[in-house]
Amino acid sequence: MKTVILSSDPASLRRAADHLLSGEVVAIPTETVYGLAAVGLNPDAVKKVFAAKGRPSTDPLILHLSSPDLHQAIHAGILSENTPQEAFKLASVFWPGPLTLVLPRGPRVPPEVTSGLDTVAVRYPAHPVAQQLLALVGCPLAAPSANRFGRISPTDAQAVLQELGGIISLILDGGDCSTGVESTVLSLLPPEPTILRPGKITTEDITRMIGRAPRRQTQLSASNKSMPSPGMLESHYAPATPLYLAQGCLSHGQSGLIFIHYRTPREGISTNPFVLSPEGDTETAAKNLYRLLRQADTAKGKAIVIEPIPDGNLAPALRDRLQRASVGTARWNGTCWELQRRGEI
Ligand code: AMP
Ligand code: MG
Repeated sequence: MKTVILSSDPASLRRAADHLLSGEVVAIPTETVYGLAAVGLNPDAVKKVFAAKGRPSTDPLILHLSSPDLHQAIHAGILSENTPQEAFKLASVFWPGPLTLVLPRGPRVPPEVTSGLDTVAVRYPAHPVAQQLLALVGCPLAAPSANRFGRISPTDAQAVLQELGGIISLILDGGDCSTGVESTVLSLLPPEPTILRPGKITTEDITRMIGRAPRRQTQLSASNKSMPSPGMLESHYAPATPLYLAQGCLSHGQSGLIFIHYRTPREGISTNPFVLSPEGDTETAAKNLYRLLRQADTAKGKAIVIEPIPDGNLAPALRDRLQRASVGTARWNGTCWELQRRGEI
């Protein structure tokens, strides 16, 4: 199949909308990462998303609503009449934006989207291209990240092409994603609000709005059976090259977050480490993470080593993604030099 990258002019948006309405999939930009979208009320279209990604059907998808108005979603049968009050409060403050709410499911959502659960994950994205497309389509789009299952999420159109080229026919180009990591996923089901996946909207942001601190679901699992959220799978977001989380690993005396790609043991440390953020700022690091991880992976070196993530708003999200990306690589507690001496990199 030939894969075409469309710009986001009105004619391209119309073409993408028509393709979606005819039951096909389209990769679309959002402010978090690129998503692989299908009309969320069409079970056959939704199945194509799972097939293109190689994603197990037990992993539920996020519905991107065509409006930030939760009353409208209830009226349209996307959400249940029992939507908790806290959801209205959070949506009014954080939407459009990178907060996904897990809520009781309405009668019109097909089980293919929710993997048979009684709940549905929804958000209203901040990216203008996503919003325009949603308005044209006029119903929710189910859209997980536009990568092959378990791999690095794409944050630009070229990365989508690298992941799904030849598998899907249309990619809508909306430039680089401004957040760079996936949305915060917050369950508002009893017994208590629970963060299933950390993202840009922090625990503190949520606590301020609802007056109680959400629990953080930290347990990792090697299988997705009975997992409340597949983003919680132990291995995820992974490059093909082994990824090490170094503790106190310091290379060239540079400050900030440094992302080092080792070529071979003989050549030693790459002289051009990829810098996630020169100032050690976690927002910049999040925006750059997947693009640099992808570049380091493409260089086909022996290992990728990442220095500790300093504190900051995006630190929990970055640590979460990197921990999952490093699964399968032995835990490492020493310096890069020791790792090199042991011949591991
Ligand atoms: P992605 O596939 O990268 O878009 O991630 C989607 C995230 O939303 C995963 O972490 C899913 O587990 C989570 N999710 C979607 N629907 C539900 C649901 N009904 N309950 C809990 N988590 C959900
Ligand atoms: Mg994903």
